[in-house]
Amino acid sequence: MNETPPRVHAEIDLDAVRENVRALRARAPRSELMAVVKADGYGHGAVACARAAVEAGAAWLGTATPQEALALRAAGLRTPVLCWLWTPGGPWREAVEADVDVAVSGMWALDEVRAAARAAGRTARIQLKADTGLGRNGCQPADWADLVGAAIAAEAEGTVKVTGIWSHFACADEPGHPSIQLQLAVFRDMLAYAEKEGVEPEVRHIANSPATLTLPESHFDLVRTGLAIYGVSPAPELGTAQQLGLRPAMTLKASVALVKEAPAGHGVSYGHHHVTSAATTLALVPAGYADGIPRHASGRGPVLVGGAVRTVAGRVAMDQFVVDLGSGDTGVRAGDEAVLFGPGERGEPTAEDWAQASDTIAYEIVTRIGARVPRVYL
Ligand code: PLP
Repeated sequence: MNETPPRVHAEIDLDAVRENVRALRARAPRSELMAVVKADGYGHGAVACARAAVEAGAAWLGTATPQEALALRAAGLRTPVLCWLWTPGGPWREAVEADVDVAVSGMWALDEVRAAARAAGRTARIQLKADTGLGRNGCQPADWADLVGAAIAAEAEGTVKVTGIWSHFACADEPGHPSIQLQLAVFRDMLAYAEKEGVEPEVRHIANSPATLTLPESHFDLVRTGLAIYGVSPAPELGTAQQLGLRPAMTLKASVALVKEAPAGHGVSYGHHHVTSAATTLALVPAGYADGIPRHASGRGPVLVGGAVRTVAGRVAMDQFVVDLGSGDTGVRAGDEAVLFGPGERGEPTAEDWAQASDTIAYEIVTRIGARVPRVYL
């Protein structure tokens, strides 16, 4: 259901995505880059961002779910794709037939992909995932020999080819965290074991955005960058996007729905957590938690409206929130633009500012922008 003009929309600057990919490739000059476009390209639109990233030199695409990988193929993208989040009974055969690399973390997955490859009469491209210390997905060191042995046996029968060996960091966004070097050491050991046994992976990889930006020894053959390609800093400790040489690709704008005068003592929004301290002007911004605006930003989220950054007054509701413009004629009228976040180049807040105001990470701010918000590509 299109709203014209949209009450709220996200502008996506694909040039920024291209620039960020080039900047990240320069940070990892001896490695290829995988553009991670899961979760609809972190809210930016998976297909459009994947195309932009490939144009800028991304050699791989990465998704969580197989459905996300298959959607890239359906859109005509032929770039190598890895997808890593599988559940039993998943669309292994479709993935094999679409030449999608599939992550294998354990024996059940290897069994399912072998069966799918046999049924398809194809060799499946699998990437063995090592749990080097994240404690989430991936094969534990204790089970590695069994998995590697079974994968080699499957290679011999022609059902699979091990194209990659890889892992994922737990604390790369906290430079100097002791787990980082520990994980690297475990990764090197697990890799060395598999190679000694005869596995010849095309790609070995562990680095996400923070590791790509801060830890050259983690780059191996490929860096798997998500958030940074969208121009957002993975953590305040690493610096702002600008300090990291990245340009935010998403600008979230709304059209002010209503401007009205309110007397002193006026309760604003559910729960009356904001009460006007003097006669003031209130502006209604028609975006709420159904659009992905965090309710946690109630009373705190920053918004550029009428040439100044104001704060969400009271609670963020499902579809709308209010900003208190203060007294006197602010010049703000219904239909004026309210910028919630963007690159920060015109005085608007950034996604990083919203993360801080919502006690969350910038990943969540951009990724949660809902399906109801149209994306407009620049
Ligand atoms: N690799 C895997 C397995 C992931 O789950 C993610 C995202 O969480 C990434 C890479 C990309 O991480 P980032 O967005 O920090 O670059």
